[in-house]
Formats: sequence, C-alpha cells, structure tokens
Amino acid sequence: MDLRRVALVLKDLQAPSWRLDQVRLAVFRQSVSSYEEIDVLPLELRQGLARSAPLLSVAEREVLVGDDGRSRKAVLALADAREVETVLLRPSPRRWTTCISCQVGCAFACAFCATGKMGFVRHLSAEEICDQVLFWRQHMRREALPGRLDNVVYMGMGEPLANYENVAESLRVLMDQRQYAIGARHIAVSTVGLPGGIERFGADFPQINLAISLHAAEEDLRSKLIPANKAYSLKQIAQSLEKYLVHSSRKVFLEYVLLEGVNDRPADAQGLVAYVRGLGHPGLFHVNLILYNATSAPFRSTPEAQARRFQQILLDAGLKATVRQNLGASIRGACGQLISEER
Ligand code: SAH
Repeated sequence: MDLRRVALVLKDLQAPSWRLDQVRLAVFRQSVSSYEEIDVLPLELRQGLARSAPLLSVAEREVLVGDDGRSRKAVLALADAREVETVLLRPSPRRWTTCISCQVGCAFACAFCATGKMGFVRHLSAEEICDQVLFWRQHMRREALPGRLDNVVYMGMGEPLANYENVAESLRVLMDQRQYAIGARHIAVSTVGLPGGIERFGADFPQINLAISLHAAEEDLRSKLIPANKAYSLKQIAQSLEKYLVHSSRKVFLEYVLLEGVNDRPADAQGLVAYVRGLGHPGLFHVNLILYNATSAPFRSTPEAQARRFQQILLDAGLKATVRQNLGASIRGACGQLISEER
C-alpha cells in the first residue's frame, strides 16, 4: 500500500479528502484484504483504487503453518515474479512478531545462512518491505488469529543497511501514526555489521533496536564465517558502535549463532567477553545466543546443554546473555533458513 498513491488516485477521482481517512482506517486498523470490503466507499472509488493503487505489492504464493503452532512462513511473489519469504511468530500467547525481508537474496554469503547462498538479486522497495507486515495483519484477520501484530524484526532475507534508503523509508512508514503506528521500541534491525550504516542508523533512528550479527569475536574466525569481515572487521564494528552510542542509549543486541566445534568453546566465550568489555558500556549490550538452524552448510548445532554452559560463562562475567527461542524450524522459517537453495 502506497498511501501517497492512494491519495492521488482519490484526488483524480474527485473524492473529498475524508475518503482518504476511510481508506486508511479500513486498511491499517481493520486490516481489510481488499477494497471491496470497504463498504463505506462508493463502488466507483473502490474500483478505481483497485485498478490504480493496489492494496498490496506482494501476492501470497503459499503459507506454511509450523508444527509448533507458533510460526507461519509465507512465500510472497513480487510484481516482477521474484519471491521473498516472511515469517510470523508467536513468542507468547497474544504477542505476535513478524520477521521481514528487505532484499531478494543477499550479497554477503555468510557460511551458515541459506539466503546467502542465493547471491544478491535486488533490493525491495519501502512499499514491498512494509507490505509484508500488512500481509500478515490481513492474514491474521482472515484466519481470526487472536491478538495484534505490533513487533517487527528486519531479520529475514537481505542486509538492511545495504538497502539503507528503502529500509529507512519503510521504518518511517511503520512508525507513522497514520499508518502502521508501530512503536520504535517494537522494531529491531539486524545487520551483518556495516560500520557506515551503523553510525548513520544511530543518528537517524536512535529509538529503534539494533542487532549486530557477530558470531565470532576473533577476526580470522569471523572472516571464515562472514566474508564481509575482511572489509568490515570486528575492530571497525567496535569503532562504529562507539559513534552509534553517542546518539542512542538503547541496548544493542549481539547475535551469536553457536556452531558446534567452530565457535562454541569456552575460549570462544572468553573471547566474546573480552570483545564486549572492549566496547565500553558492557551494560548496553545483550548477547543473543542462537542455536544453529539446519541449512545445506556443513555445520551442526551446539547441543542445548553446551549452549547453556557458554551462556553461563558470559553471565558469570557480568554480561547480559540469553539463548534465543527457536521458532519456525519445521517450516524452514527459522533464522538463516529463508529461501534455501533447493528453491
Ligand atoms: N543480514 C542481516 C539480517 C539477517 S538476520 C544480518 O546479518 O544480521 C538473520 C539472523 O540469523 C542473523 O543474525 C544471521 O546471522 C542469523 N543466521 C543466519 N543463518 C543462520 C542459521 N542457519 N541458524 C541460525 N541463525 C542464522
């Protein structure tokens, strides 16, 4: 939904300005799935809008419902027939979160990530990014799922800070009280760690949560897992975080996917402690340990008991650390599994 386009179409059709408010309320508060359903609008306006300002820029190809009943994954087709995936998660009974994509594919080729295997195809527009949220709100209404979708994480396909302008515009639209009205604190953007982008993001969006995909606290190991580390090292990330924290005093999340025998030894945990301490303000960082979700890459997940031991080392050192709930694996909708190479 491009609200500006809707406004122009209504103007062309010589509708009074309050018609825009009726459309807005129906779309963003009632989550109607088509203009047809907005019965307060005269038929010719509904038809004119359907022709010239499509309600969604994405079309449902399929929705998979996870065994756990707490996750759903949608495959969405874009206007050029490319596909992206997006996930709806229910971490607690009435709380819903969506994990959205910002690019078709991804240029960064992290060793453990299925999206990275596709390579980069194209950026998503701001509208295509936001429409994933609108799609899920409409889906929830059609399926009569209880509760509201008010949390959004940019942790699907793609690298948000490499599509900065469109992501920034999408964030403004999601936060716009006249549109999605999602609070900044309910949004998180995750990055592979692009230093320039991190600084810019802090200046532009100090209230939005930032997550950095760290995954290793030692340069050589991180470069093996995340080729981007050769250009944007741990050291540079640390420097950019210092500048980021001038603008934002929000807690920064450090994501760390535990790969058995690769980055999950006690020495790795100690290295992580040292890195976080080196960032200054250790209280402003929160380590999110993620159990590896299967992709075609030759990694195994660290067993949960060992993940807990790794966590304990961080806690004993005074860091904040949690092991992230793993939802969506039964539908290949967990972190790192979106669009795998067999598609
Ligand atoms: N490009 C951004 C956004 C992707 S977020 C970024 O790198 O942060 C997806 C998160 O899941 C990232 O932290 C990513 O590193 C992690 N991830 C990727 N593959 C994974 C896998 N197979 N298992 C668990 N987490 C994975």
